[in-house]
Amino acid sequence: TSNAPLSPTLDPWALAKELSGRQLIGGKLVPSVSGRTFEVRYPATLEKVGDAAYGEAADVAAAVEAAVAAQKAWARTPARERGKLIVECGRLLEAHKEELARLMALETGKALRTESRVEAGVLADAFVFFGGLAGELKGETVPFSPDMMTMTVREPIGVVGAIIPWNVPMMLMAYKIAPALVAGNAVVVKSAEEAPFAVLRVCQLMNQVLPAGLFNLLSGYGPECGQPLVTHPKVGKISFTGSVETGKLIYRAAAEKLIPVTLELGGKSPMIVMDDADLDKAVMGAVSGMRFTRQGQSCTAASRIYVQAGLHDRFVAALKAKVDALVMGDPLDEKTDIGTIVSLQQFDRVNNYVDKGRAEGGHAHECSALPEGSDKLKEGYFVRPVIFTDLPRDSRLIREEIFGPVTCVVKVESFEDALEQANDSDYGLAATIWTKDLQTGLRGAQRLEAGFVQVNQNLVVMPNLSYGGIKQSGLGKEATLEAMLEHFTHKKTIIVNLG
Ligand code: NAD
Repeated sequence: TSNAPLSPTLDPWALAKELSGRQLIGGKLVPSVSGRTFEVRYPATLEKVGDAAYGEAADVAAAVEAAVAAQKAWARTPARERGKLIVECGRLLEAHKEELARLMALETGKALRTESRVEAGVLADAFVFFGGLAGELKGETVPFSPDMMTMTVREPIGVVGAIIPWNVPMMLMAYKIAPALVAGNAVVVKSAEEAPFAVLRVCQLMNQVLPAGLFNLLSGYGPECGQPLVTHPKVGKISFTGSVETGKLIYRAAAEKLIPVTLELGGKSPMIVMDDADLDKAVMGAVSGMRFTRQGQSCTAASRIYVQAGLHDRFVAALKAKVDALVMGDPLDEKTDIGTIVSLQQFDRVNNYVDKGRAEGGHAHECSALPEGSDKLKEGYFVRPVIFTDLPRDSRLIREEIFGPVTCVVKVESFEDALEQANDSDYGLAATIWTKDLQTGLRGAQRLEAGFVQVNQNLVVMPNLSYGGIKQSGLGKEATLEAMLEHFTHKKTIIVNLG
């Protein structure tokens, strides 16, 4: 890498080629130690996008060494100065958001206009927010005894390992590395195998501002690259976002080393719609909450919708009409609302769930239409959004996370019935309730078992709003000052004897 400023490259194919076969270690774009790579394809046409470096234990070792070396000087850099540099990263990422959005659409199939640009647009915000919190890395004094001066200070952990999924990789990476770096840590990130390039570009840009080795990005598969990162003796903390299954593996491995972990895991987020809800707003909330534009590949997807009997049929008809109006097509095309599923594995998984739902007697209302016109798109991982009704209460579609464009609408009799069914879940990430009655809304907010409850709206994760799940949806929250202090520092007590 050179230190000459990078200019935005708006052709994502060219950019992916440029980044092919590389990881960021010690401030340099380098191939994997073994020289091996793996292919990444455009999920809309299956054309080859590029080859990602195949990171393994030897790459983890090199990245952790680089991080250990860089962290010492970084921890001694005044916190406000660290914060300033992180804000500067945010500014640079803002200037490059269009190229990042295009690269994201290319590797994941997330529609450029409705999804990838949105993700690239909020990226800078996380850096600016956490950079601005640098002055808050404060301790306290404790009135212990008149002859003792007792205080606490916040110290960095050292090297933090971050493991991220493919659905919103740039944003989820930002929520981990920005606070970790501001707090004085160095970071090694392992990207998801489906989405290695956009996050590498983010790191390449940050590398223009921050000291070499302070953050390192490896691409590779979970067992070969993620696991050695978790078990590496010099990694003092793991921040993970991904599936429950992998989260449990990581938790066990971290227990062996006795290091802290943060786990942001899956969800099966309920939406409750009462008879008195504003129908249009609730339907729009279901469309955005389910993230149909991202093929439902969202951890907070409104994948169980409990609608009171009086509104049920009208709700289903209006929801179907709204989803029908979404245009599925080439993710890079400005006309497209809905892109593709990310991979063949996810594509098969989603289709299997749809088959299962039909076999269980559910009614599948298929919406929108597969893209037409281009032969190339025939190969792509497009799935029509499906609204299921009439599923049995114990249906696997209602209990399990599908991570695809499939939502289940369930008719309920009352508020109590809706609450009971909504809380009857292993997950507890997000929930929404729609009603014009403030009391019902507040009661719902009190009693819904989730980390994040909203009344009459559906927002996404935002800096300064604590975000994270309970039950099987995770351990620990992200996106706030408290999260930065709790997860990326430890509190040291100092006592001075004045006697
Ligand atoms: P996944 O668990 O398969 O993979 C996530 C990451 O973990 C990838 O980088 C993967 O390579 C790595 N990994 C896999 N096995 C590993 C191992 N043994 N050791 C270390 N690392 C390993 O999840 P996914 O399918 O990529 O992502 C989808 C999941 O992520 C869904 O369950 C979704 O709900 C969840 N998610 C949660 C949030 C949240 O904030 N709660 C946000 C987005 C996605």
